[in-house]
Amino acid sequence: MTDPSATTPTSPIRPSPATGAPSRSATPNGRWFAALEAISSDGVYLIGPDGEIHYAGPEGGPLHRREADTDLLGVQAFGFIHELDEAATLRALDELRDAPGSHATVEIRVAAGNGQTRWIEARGLNLLGDPEVAGILISVRDVTDRHEAQELLRQSEERFRALLEHSSDAVLLLDTHQQVRYASPAVEHLFGRPVDELTGRQMSPSFLHPDDRRALGHRLVDLFATPAGILTFEARVRDAASRYRWAEISMRNLVDDPRVAGIVVHVRDIDPLLHDDLTGLPNRPLLRRLLERELERADASSLGLVLVDLDRFRLVNDSLGHDQGDALLVLLADRLRSVVHDDELLARLGGDEFVILSTRLSGHEQAVELAERVLEAISEPFVLDGNDVHIGASIGIAFPDAEVGDATDLLRDADAAMYRAKARGRGRWELFDSRLHDDVRERLRLQNELRRALADGAFRLHYQPVFALADGAVVGVEALLRWEHPTEGLLAPGRFVPIAEDTGLIVPIGAWVLREACQQVRRWHQELPELGPLRVSVNLSARQLTDPDLLATVRSALVLSELPADQLELEVTESALMEDTEAAATALADLRDLGVRLAIDDFGTGYSSMAYLRRFRVETLKVDRSFVDGLGDTGEDGGDDTAIVTAVVTLAHTLGLQATAEGVETQDQLARLRRLHCDQVQGYLLARPAPAEELSGLLARRVGS
Ligand code: C2E
Ligand code: MG
Ligand code: MG
Repeated sequence: MTDPSATTPTSPIRPSPATGAPSRSATPNGRWFAALEAISSDGVYLIGPDGEIHYAGPEGGPLHRREADTDLLGVQAFGFIHELDEAATLRALDELRDAPGSHATVEIRVAAGNGQTRWIEARGLNLLGDPEVAGILISVRDVTDRHEAQELLRQSEERFRALLEHSSDAVLLLDTHQQVRYASPAVEHLFGRPVDELTGRQMSPSFLHPDDRRALGHRLVDLFATPAGILTFEARVRDAASRYRWAEISMRNLVDDPRVAGIVVHVRDIDPLLHDDLTGLPNRPLLRRLLERELERADASSLGLVLVDLDRFRLVNDSLGHDQGDALLVLLADRLRSVVHDDELLARLGGDEFVILSTRLSGHEQAVELAERVLEAISEPFVLDGNDVHIGASIGIAFPDAEVGDATDLLRDADAAMYRAKARGRGRWELFDSRLHDDVRERLRLQNELRRALADGAFRLHYQPVFALADGAVVGVEALLRWEHPTEGLLAPGRFVPIAEDTGLIVPIGAWVLREACQQVRRWHQELPELGPLRVSVNLSARQLTDPDLLATVRSALVLSELPADQLELEVTESALMEDTEAAATALADLRDLGVRLAIDDFGTGYSSMAYLRRFRVETLKVDRSFVDGLGDTGEDGGDDTAIVTAVVTLAHTLGLQATAEGVETQDQLARLRRLHCDQVQGYLLARPAPAEELSGLLARRVGS
């Protein structure tokens, strides 16, 4: 033990004049020391046991920048130390003093020149016992830059850690034995287990849904064996309660990266994105994924899609409000759940469309049975707000076959079958067959061509005269749309109007029909000035009734042609009125206010209701051709037809409306209609629809007679 106080500080070592070779002695010799000092950027100081500076090297030291070296002599070295580091420095100095020959290092802040604080590394060597030195030799290095760099690194690491800790994505670090070495807090939400419970645990693929594990095959094993390998996949992750959540998982093998030395697993919860908010059922994207996966499997022969679409769901929304519509969908989802098996998937595609993906069908009959079960489940009334609501559904069934490539194809097929079910009267199922494949392709082709047709001016109007039965006079014409197809010739509306309706193209096409029909009547008036009022009837689709611009379109057609409003008659089918009652009621009321006449087309084929005949203030009922066709037949159906025509004409007259019979083809039909006092007739017997030029002669004869 050296008693520091017993050692008398000697005078500072002064560099001795350059004499002799550098000494190899352990004791610093003057020249050796001077040379060392000269090449070092460190400052060298000798302090006494009490901290007083006895010597300060001439160059380089951080403290020197502040004052001339001579000024430092006799100064208390502690005066330079930042107050926060004082205690630690004193402690280190005490320890150093107690052990002769020992050394110590501190990293502390000091006050340097111009009020700056610098970080220094001070290394002290206790040479108090050495009579030649009798002090503590200190070398001081400015480490401010290194310190700042470290601080930045620490901050960025902290930030990075905070990001990991607060991210909703879970991050895991596994070693090559799949043991969890690190888990970020978000694992708890996904795996239902706290971080502690997962750390150190084996993270085997058993955390994944068996189907997803199977779909992964060898890829997981491969990843663990492939340094720098990356694997991204979607799978269901099992939580502590054995519930599954959909997650997007990406894994990176970084065993070769010494900073990581493991496999990084990034798990993102995508479950909420894949489910429908309203019903909680899987949504379209999820259905597509699962369907895609099933189709990729070698044996897809037991797979089938059953697509369910409610009939006239809009009516519920319109009459009871959207909240009740939503409530109905929730009830419907429950009923559908009750008919599907645990291993079948029920999804909501959107709106009132649901789909069942089954992989347990041994044949088409089983899919049909499933569809029947669905229809039966829906047939019971739904109770909404205390009211019984009856609703039907149309179902399309599709199976993968040679022509089905992917999920899109199969969904399209199910959709086509469902549309066929609607077209064949709703409330039923239809199986997709290969003929429908052709239909679908044809539809797509026509759809594309139809888009161009309007711009190409490929539409024509034919006109069919309407005669007053009392005197045989032409009272009007019905405008009937034709499409001059570039390769297929003149197409009837049956071929393309439904497509135009589905795509919404019927709106601009219909506007063209209105303008053209009104203008044609005006041209006839110019050609034949004596021609009295001539009514023109134009057919409107349901889709047009919901078009907010309909009123403006009709008004401008009238203004441009200067046709009096009451010479324009708009024909709307009963089913069009049923599609969207509220919108239809408003549109029709506005049109009536404009002075336009309204007729109900194909009367008797839809949901005839006296209530809306009054509500819509129509002027004419057009008895559907199918009933006129059976007039006078003695067969069972024919007898019905006669009764229906009689009833319709009577109904029209009772309500103060006019009746027009369509599709009159025989003299017998004409005679019977006359006896029934039907007001107007239209049919091939009297005149076929024809281009305007061909009709001019007939109209001229009318003027002449
Ligand atoms: P609709 O309004 O009931 O028109 C009557 C249909 O019966 C026309 O068929 C007409 O050519 C046909 N027809 C007339 N007399 C006879 C007859 O004696 N015997 C037979 N067998 N048929 C007869 P078309 O022109 O093929 O039109 C079919 C349907 O297409 C129309 O039925 C109408 O619903 C729709 N349509 C026609 N033009 C337009 C239009 O510009 N816009 C809209 N939205 N639909 C239209
Ligand atoms: Mg019509
Ligand atoms: Mg009709």
